Amino acid sequence: MSSISGSQVIAIEEHYLDAEVDEKLNGRVGGSAETRARLADLGELRLKEMDAAGIDIQVLSHCPPGAQAFDGDTAAAQAQGVNDRLYEVVRSKPDRFAAFASLPTRDPKGAADELERCVDKLGFKGAMLHGLTDGLFVDDKRFWPIFERAEALDVPIYVHPNRPHPAVIEAYYGDYAEKFPTILSSAWGFTVETATAGLRLVLSGIFDKHKNLKIILGHLGESLPFSLWRINHSLSKYMEGGDRAMSFRDIFCEHFYITTSGNFSNPALLCCVMEMGVDRILFSIDWPYVENAPGTEWMEGVPLGAEDREKILNGNAKRLLRM
Ligand code: ZN
Repeated sequence: MSSISGSQVIAIEEHYLDAEVDEKLNGRVGGSAETRARLADLGELRLKEMDAAGIDIQVLSHCPPGAQAFDGDTAAAQAQGVNDRLYEVVRSKPDRFAAFASLPTRDPKGAADELERCVDKLGFKGAMLHGLTDGLFVDDKRFWPIFERAEALDVPIYVHPNRPHPAVIEAYYGDYAEKFPTILSSAWGFTVETATAGLRLVLSGIFDKHKNLKIILGHLGESLPFSLWRINHSLSKYMEGGDRAMSFRDIFCEHFYITTSGNFSNPALLCCVMEMGVDRILFSIDWPYVENAPGTEWMEGVPLGAEDREKILNGNAKRLLRM
C-alpha cells in the first residue's frame, strides 16, 4: 500500500452520504453531482482515490447534517439505521475504514444512547456533530447528555461545520452569496460558525463538569489557535470563578484536538504547533469536498521533523481514537 515515506496515513474527516438521509432531504445535500457521487461511493472509487494519494485509512463520517436531519419519535431509530449501514461498510474493510457515529441531536438522550451503542457494539471511534440544531449551538445545555456520554465512553466529539443560521446568512453574507457562494461555507462562514461553537463550549463551563471531555475541530482549529492569545487575554479575566481557575487557553489546549482538513498551509500549521503542541494535531483531508493528493503532497514536505510528522499522520489518531 502506498503511503508517505513509509508512514501509515490515517485521515479522520472523510465524509460519505447515507441513502436514507439523502432521501429524507430530497437530494439537497452534498453539493455538486460530482461530489455527491463521491459521497455515495463507499467502495471502488473511494479506495482508488485513497490509494492514489497514499491514504491508508479513512475514519468515515456522514456529511452535514447526517442524522441531525431526523426529528420526532423516529429520529433515534433512523439514526440507528444510518450507523448500522456504516458499520457494515467498516466491517467489510476494517483495514481501510473506521467510523464516527452520526447522532440525532434533536433527541439528545436518544443521541447519547446511540453514541454508546455505536462505541460499545459497533466499535465506532466517537461522533461527529454538524453545526446548529434548530438554531442552537452545541453548548446549549440540552445537548450536554451527549457530551457526558462521550466523556464516560472516553471518545471524542468532532464539532464540524454546517451552514450558518439563516439570519446570519442574510445579514452577513446575503449580498455576496450569489456571486461568491463559498463565502458562507468553506471560505469563511463555516470557519466563523465552528470557531464560535468551540469558543462557546469553553465559556459554557462544560469542561468544569466533564474534565475528560475531548473535542475535535477541523480546518486547523477553525482559526482559534491563531487568535488564542487575544481571546485568552480578553476572556480569561471573566473565567477565574470556575472551580479549576483555568484560563481560556488552558481549557482549549487541554480539551481540544484539531485536524488539517482542507487547510494545507505551513504557516497555519506551525502556528497550531506553537500554540497547542504537535500531539494535538491530526491529519485529515475533508474528502470529497477537498481532494486527497494536495493533502498528502503537503505532508511530504511539511517543515517538521519526521517524528512529529508521524504523530500527525497516524500516532495521534491511534492514541486519541484507540486504533
Ligand atoms: Zn468536513
